[in-house]
Amino acid sequence: MPRYKRITVKIGSNVLTRPDGTLDVTRMSALVDQVAALHKQGIEVILVSSGAVASGRSELGMEHDRRLDAVSARQLFSAVGQAKLINRYYELFKEHGIACGQILTMKESFSTRRHYLNQKHCMEVMLENGVIPIVNENDTVSVTELMFTDNDELSGMIASMMDAEILIILSNIDGIYTGAPDDPQSRLIPEISAESRTDLSKYIQTGKSAFGRGGMLTKSSIARKVAQEGIEVIIANGRRDDVLAALLRRDGATPCTRFLPSDKTTSSIKKWIAHSEGFAKGGLHINEQAAERLLSRRATSLLPVGVTSVEGDFEKGDIVRIYAPDSRQIGVGRISCDSTKARTLIGKQGGRPLIHYDYLFLD
Ligand code: GLU
Repeated sequence: MPRYKRITVKIGSNVLTRPDGTLDVTRMSALVDQVAALHKQGIEVILVSSGAVASGRSELGMEHDRRLDAVSARQLFSAVGQAKLINRYYELFKEHGIACGQILTMKESFSTRRHYLNQKHCMEVMLENGVIPIVNENDTVSVTELMFTDNDELSGMIASMMDAEILIILSNIDGIYTGAPDDPQSRLIPEISAESRTDLSKYIQTGKSAFGRGGMLTKSSIARKVAQEGIEVIIANGRRDDVLAALLRRDGATPCTRFLPSDKTTSSIKKWIAHSEGFAKGGLHINEQAAERLLSRRATSLLPVGVTSVEGDFEKGDIVRIYAPDSRQIGVGRISCDSTKARTLIGKQGGRPLIHYDYLFLD
């Protein structure tokens, strides 16, 4: 087996719950056994586990869904379900003599560099001390627009933040198919390169899974982004026996879709910016020449001369979106001045870059 130092494993709600929504403790126990085996080989594992809402629902009963509004139900279920979920993990890892700890996070905690680094530090300390971090979104407080799209997005942010070598996303299907997974004509796509421009949305059904928030479309777009940062991503079926070790052995016997990592290295600040789009405070519209220069992949900064208009109000250091002349978003970056100053600089020759290359991430 190739030597891995650090991996992130995301376990979806559909892997952990039975069709009736109750927590599948047998499956959970099998996955904990696999993670424990990797841990004992010296591989640092960060778990991102869903299942709080589903396990809370199964504890308290579906009738709450009818009585409560969607936000209240999610808050109630997650408050109870997360306690139950982490308690199960704690007991299961304890049987292996391994300690685990809980990290509950929110999209906002990734929005400032300081909070981001605080979280990272916490997980580094846990790993250094042999403790397995188990991460989930803090569903009790993160509601509506403050939410991650789903835990797939969260797992991508965690893998990137923690510089994992590989992110394994476990769901209840084997990977990405060329059509509906249950259609005999569909084929599993074994490999997708980070640079591939294939539009996967033409293959993927938009229907969501039974208990999780995410679908294959978000999985594939997160996977592509993370692979572009140099981290391999595998989408596989968490219900297959011994799936983690089998995937890491790379013997080709386990069906999955692998997103091959780009070989260019991405600095940690660029990784943070890559996942910061959701916190963008405004935007810069740029002209054709500037768009061409940026997309030519040479290390180019965005200069005032290339900017045609400024959208929104932002402060120096905020994340802003960058739009090509056809209004298509082509990237995000950290702006070097506030929006008032940026407006005075539109189209001006010379001067400092509005977004320096080191703080620029192009889609
Ligand atoms: N955080 C949610 C939970 O633990 C899961 C979100 C998702 O399905 O992606 O239930």
